[in-house]
Amino acid sequence: MTDVRVRFAPSPTGSLHIGSARTALYNFLYARHNKGTMVLRIEDTDEKRSTTEHDRGIIENLAWLGLQADEGPDVGGPFGPYRQSERSDIYEAAVQKLLADGAAYPCFCPQEMLEQKNEALLAAGKMPKYDRTCCSLTKDEVAARLAGGEQAAIRFKVPDGDVNFADLIHGPITFSSDVIGDFIIKRTDGGYSYNFAVVVDDAGMEITDVIRGEDHITNTARQLMIFAALGKPAPRFGHHSLILAPDGSKLSKRHGATSVAQFRGLGYLPAAITNYLALISWHPQDEREKFSLAELMEEFEIERVSKSPAIFDLQKLNWLNGLYIREMAPKDLFVAVAPYLADSGMAFAPVQQEVVAEAIQANLVTLSDAPQYAEVFHVDADPATCSGAPDLTGPQSSQLFELAIEHFKQMPAEFLPVPEAREVLRGLVEAAKEKGVKGKAVYHPLRVALSARGEGPELFYLVAGLGKTKILKRLESAAAYAARFADPTL
Ligand code: GLU
Repeated sequence: MTDVRVRFAPSPTGSLHIGSARTALYNFLYARHNKGTMVLRIEDTDEKRSTTEHDRGIIENLAWLGLQADEGPDVGGPFGPYRQSERSDIYEAAVQKLLADGAAYPCFCPQEMLEQKNEALLAAGKMPKYDRTCCSLTKDEVAARLAGGEQAAIRFKVPDGDVNFADLIHGPITFSSDVIGDFIIKRTDGGYSYNFAVVVDDAGMEITDVIRGEDHITNTARQLMIFAALGKPAPRFGHHSLILAPDGSKLSKRHGATSVAQFRGLGYLPAAITNYLALISWHPQDEREKFSLAELMEEFEIERVSKSPAIFDLQKLNWLNGLYIREMAPKDLFVAVAPYLADSGMAFAPVQQEVVAEAIQANLVTLSDAPQYAEVFHVDADPATCSGAPDLTGPQSSQLFELAIEHFKQMPAEFLPVPEAREVLRGLVEAAKEKGVKGKAVYHPLRVALSARGEGPELFYLVAGLGKTKILKRLESAAAYAARFADPTL
């Protein structure tokens, strides 16, 4: 273990967004790559918008992605509590320290007055900034106004000078404190501001590196001032770009799925999502594109994260998802697709399950595609009604189906393993050849008869996965249909 400590600090005001998952991933990979610690801190100070359901959902979806933090509200740790709503005493102590040091002061200015002053500044072409009316109040004046029942917010006294920091992704950044007015750290309602609570927590939790979205860059200046005022060492900061939709706008509902839970529901695999999110801004040393989470932990370096906007590319995520699906053992794949099959009213006997999974594996982009491909093993579609029906009526089809019925009647069991199914099929092809039916005149009509489709899984999968009863039933209806054409008087 090194002393590297990072944190992922979501606000539980919504479901885990794919962009937040990327922040979590980069923190996780940074921690793992540097043999450090990842902390999960739930920033639930917005009581109105934070819910336990979202809190739980975030923890659950992080675990699903494989991004389990080392410390957090679910696993505990030496720097808890890990929910901001449980840390008020810690914030209050920090407020009192800043007040005692003269680094903060109570402010009684009413909201309407502040708004009027800001409007006047704007009208004069100036930047709205607090004019420090309450900064010069004496201790006695403050005490008297509080005793008189007035409510005070607490403002941080912004020191003069520039604030500089070396961003891990953007390089050197400078802010002039001239543009930053004394900001509120504790509101009149008793709540603590984000910029204040986050610093008290990052300091208290001994965070060494803050990796987050670049929408927080301007907050960093304020946060660095508070670290200095508290006499605490500041962490390193790295701000990654935000995920944008292909049209350059913020990724939102109208572009499709945006939360981890939605991608999960659509049948994306966690390994594909983490692989994709890593590649969205990180450039590996070589041309490789496929990285397991373990490989990412090994190879992810923050120096190779680009600051360019990250454009969400669903095609690439789909491609990666397909790769990971094809890597699954058919047994595991069946378990993964079973809920989607069940939703479509499909169930398969245990002996069929691996065959069905293996048969559809190459076609799947997401797990939710499974029903459309597995359907051939399930429905009792009438071959006569399918688009390939004309193929059932070739001059030799009747003969083929009769032969096939005799052949499949000899199947030793209701279901055959794939290798045996291949043998049975080979035997049929041989027997048909002897009768002068060969090539396309065998394969295509047989496929249509067995699946009522012109295309689909390899024939031997159909033979293995359908079961003897279904095979014979379908062949019999195909035979009856073909016979009608062979002899129109029937
Ligand atoms: N709760 C903040 C957010 O979700 C955390 C920002 C930070 O990492 O400091 O945006």
